[in-house]
Amino acid sequence: MSELLYTPKNAYDVFSEEELKAAYDYCEGYKKFLDNGKTERACVAYSIEIAKAKGFVEFVDGKKYAPGDKVYVNQKNKAVIFAVIGKESPEKGFNITAAHIDSPRLDIRPNPLYEDGNMAYFKTHYYGGIRKYQWTAIPLSLIGVICKKDGTTVNINIGEDENDPIFYITDLLPHLAKDAKPIHGEDLNIIIGSAYDKENKEDKIKTAVMKLLNKKYGISESDFQTAELTIVPAAKAKDVGFDRSLIGSYGHDDRVCSYPALSSLLSLENPEKTCVAVLVDKEEIGSAGITGMRSAFITDFLLALCDGYNSRVAFKNSAAVSADVSAAFDPTFASVYEKRNAAHINCGPAICKYTGHGGKAGASDACPEFIAKLAGIFDANEVMYQFCELGRIDAGGGGTVAQYIADRNIEVVDIGVAMLSMHAPYELASKTDIYMMHKLCKAFYENY
Ligand SMILES: [Zn+2]
Repeated sequence: MSELLYTPKNAYDVFSEEELKAAYDYCEGYKKFLDNGKTERACVAYSIEIAKAKGFVEFVDGKKYAPGDKVYVNQKNKAVIFAVIGKESPEKGFNITAAHIDSPRLDIRPNPLYEDGNMAYFKTHYYGGIRKYQWTAIPLSLIGVICKKDGTTVNINIGEDENDPIFYITDLLPHLAKDAKPIHGEDLNIIIGSAYDKENKEDKIKTAVMKLLNKKYGISESDFQTAELTIVPAAKAKDVGFDRSLIGSYGHDDRVCSYPALSSLLSLENPEKTCVAVLVDKEEIGSAGITGMRSAFITDFLLALCDGYNSRVAFKNSAAVSADVSAAFDPTFASVYEKRNAAHINCGPAICKYTGHGGKAGASDACPEFIAKLAGIFDANEVMYQFCELGRIDAGGGGTVAQYIADRNIEVVDIGVAMLSMHAPYELASKTDIYMMHKLCKAFYENY
């Protein structure tokens, strides 16, 4: 019998010394995942690289697969599905985790280049929910692709190497900030240069920048129109605190769930049910688009696995963990949380029965039978977890991909690492929680 009263547990009370070491060791791999996957494209490439090393091969629609086979689907280089074929028939259902690999950032516009005040700039358009002031006065990297009309693609990655230059957005000096207005979207202009050749006539700095880019990448100004270039923070993932118990990084949301969803799948050998990890793009802007959770590529893949079996039965019997982050209680901003229903750092992954805003609008409210069964599995496998809501009622809210999984008649609940400073250029998560998310996904794949 369980204890009469519920008391949340802290990993530092529960973990053995060996388990703590395992958690800290596990996070070394996660930090590499963060640094190598700052954009969804980079994350897809890195995920496929580590999966291939574990024997995963590209999925071929129409081919017959046997239990234990490991496959992946690369969706436009911006989303990816990994699966390990189970011993059971597809009609028993799939065990699916879904996380997202896009993060808030600044995208370069189609006609980005201009000069003003003796400097050259790129215009940006922010992607996802950001607090705009946070993106000023910090080192920034430029990552992405320029797809040229001749069919070739130029890969750009500047700012990530220790010897690279970085990019920068200015902020107002405090001395002149007496009547300062908040930073707006149109203020997020990236400084990209200030030098020029004496022989340049008009647009001297702009011309100098294009000459450099033409020499290095063979591009001209109109090539920006068919590019996908992104500005992300240049900082690398680092341990935080005297005890190194936390990790600071760009893009924890939602790599902090993507990595555990993937690493646990990679550790599976001959699971009972077919296990699937879906890493999608576009969650931060509503999951639309061909690489987002609403795209048919996910349904199509599951249908392909059902080949010869009843797919309606397969979907009905499937279960999913919508693996996305939650907000951890932050004592500095305590007023936006309801302490009894807030997630806390080091208390394990946060199970959100529902998300949404203003009376649960937009939530996929999970069935209690389902979450009870999951919680039972987690208890039996020594997985720590906590039940929570995002924050105080009417303080705001948010959504995840859960509703788009439920649309497919697949049972689903949101579970993810609770973090601090969500959507900031540098976010914070705890090592024990990240490790426990790996354990949770593994317990779900193997036992649901
Ligand atoms: Zn997220």
